Amino acid sequence: MTTPESSIPSNFIRDIVAEDLKSGKRAQVVTRFPPEPNGYLHIGHAKSIGLNFGLAIEHHGICHLRFDDTNPETEDPEYVQAIQDDVRWLGFDWHGKMFFASDYFEKLYQFAERLIQKGRAYVDSSSAEDIRKRRGTLTEPGTDSPHRNRSIEENLALFRRMKAGEFADGTHVLRAKIDMASPNINLRDPVFYRIRKATHYRTGDAWCIYPSYDYAHPLSDALEGITHSICTLEFEDHRPLYDWVVEQADAPHRPRQIEFARLNLTNTVMSKRKLLELVEKNLVSGWDDPRLPTIKGLRRRGYTPEAIRAFCEAIGVAKRDATIEMAMLEHFIREDLNRRAARVMAVLRPLKVVIDNYPEGQVEELDAVNNPEDPGAGTRKVPFSRTIYIEQDDFREVPPPKFFRLSPGKEVRLRYAYIVKCESVVKNERGEAIEVRCTYDPETKSGGPQAGRKVKATIHWVSAKHALDADVRLYEPLLKTDLSKVPADHDWTLYLNPHSLEKLTGCKVEPGLLKGKIGDRYQFERQGYYCVDPDTAKGLLTFNRTVPLRDTWAKIEKAQQEG
Ligand code: ATP
Ligand code: MG
Repeated sequence: MTTPESSIPSNFIRDIVAEDLKSGKRAQVVTRFPPEPNGYLHIGHAKSIGLNFGLAIEHHGICHLRFDDTNPETEDPEYVQAIQDDVRWLGFDWHGKMFFASDYFEKLYQFAERLIQKGRAYVDSSSAEDIRKRRGTLTEPGTDSPHRNRSIEENLALFRRMKAGEFADGTHVLRAKIDMASPNINLRDPVFYRIRKATHYRTGDAWCIYPSYDYAHPLSDALEGITHSICTLEFEDHRPLYDWVVEQADAPHRPRQIEFARLNLTNTVMSKRKLLELVEKNLVSGWDDPRLPTIKGLRRRGYTPEAIRAFCEAIGVAKRDATIEMAMLEHFIREDLNRRAARVMAVLRPLKVVIDNYPEGQVEELDAVNNPEDPGAGTRKVPFSRTIYIEQDDFREVPPPKFFRLSPGKEVRLRYAYIVKCESVVKNERGEAIEVRCTYDPETKSGGPQAGRKVKATIHWVSAKHALDADVRLYEPLLKTDLSKVPADHDWTLYLNPHSLEKLTGCKVEPGLLKGKIGDRYQFERQGYYCVDPDTAKGLLTFNRTVPLRDTWAKIEKAQQEG
């Protein structure tokens, strides 16, 4: 990947890092992306990935991929694999620096013994409930545990017995001995170790005590020589604790924690807990459901890593939480696909059109432009014949005002083909148009004497006997509203948008799409960007709509007028 200096707007974190290098405070940049393998990555993680890996690339440093795997109950190797795939797919490389917090369990344990020996940690045998009660509130100080003044020897002995598995879950914890009256609640003797007789996906049953995030994270950073430990804003109040842990444990390095605002998007969910709930309750088809903001979901939907990276860079890095409009993400995928997606014609809701004066059995191979934004993309042949399909929407028996597409007695241009005129309509017993009869003007073909003849609209079509059948899935926002507007006591899943997925069957697409491979992205002319879904492997071409087009009409009509 190229160095992103020139394209990324500056931000306060980049400034801090640059300053630390300039002042000589740091000799190099070592960052890390520290996911917990308890779910799949989402676009919020992409922001963190872009920031951490981006800083490393910019300063020829390194960004570690570290699995923060200290909760045995929720972690799974499936997630470890998926996270690696996603980071790579986004275009980043950890250059072999992949680590696991669980690899540090022994070292973390040794640091804890050292804290006990320094009188900085103690074993509390109070219940979780009592510990919570004594913590105090934002306005009232906490109170000391009756076990707070145990001797160093007693603490060491108890802690070793905790490790040896002599006690049941919840009977003892190891706590930092800081200050129960601190105005910062995080400093009121936070818990560093809990007993949990659970099997860890990597360390098995080797451990029955597990470190807390507040303890394991700073020390993992320190052990890896992380220079800048970038995390989200909710950890700002934990920073004094982060510094305390690193200092008191006499850790080999002093990383600097810097917080930034997490990414939130409108009308979707971004917490792994909620994403997991959707997956487990089968409210979506899986972690890669194209409606989800997971990296796997966005990828299946047709998003490109380039668009996601560009979006993350554009939203910037700030110190204040904000919710970004989904429209902004869509803007970036449109921009990217506009440059790279091949144009094709696809009819989603087909209406049969018979061109009465076109010779029966004749097929013409017409030239169609693959991508007007990319002359190098060339042209392709599209078959034209007497019976074609157009979009139901492109025909109105009784046209409303300003409807310039097909209606009785009116003309329209068929993209890359002829001008046709609607002569009559065939209707079913319910009075719906099921077939339109037209005539064509042979002189209006490209290169023909009347090629430049103007009509008000151009529509897309596919030749009936050459078209391929396809299923197409259209998506709308996952949620009807933003979660921030949902009262806390409401079941948030009731706010799911019942129309978030619409499945169209019997769609007709041009024959060239037969060679479409899973993941290939196209622009369906006048409609939007679509990509080939993995379900195609089941035997029927299946597409996901990545994003609809905007301003389609204006564009096509303009191109038409320009000839
Ligand atoms: P979630 O809230 O989705 O469960 P998390 O913070 O618990 O996320 P982790 O696996 O711990 O998930 O996150 C790994 C890294 O990604 C952390 O450094 C975290 O700060 C960052 N991160 C997570 N969510 C976002 C977000 N929405 N925006 C920016 N960074 C995020
Ligand atoms: Mg987390």
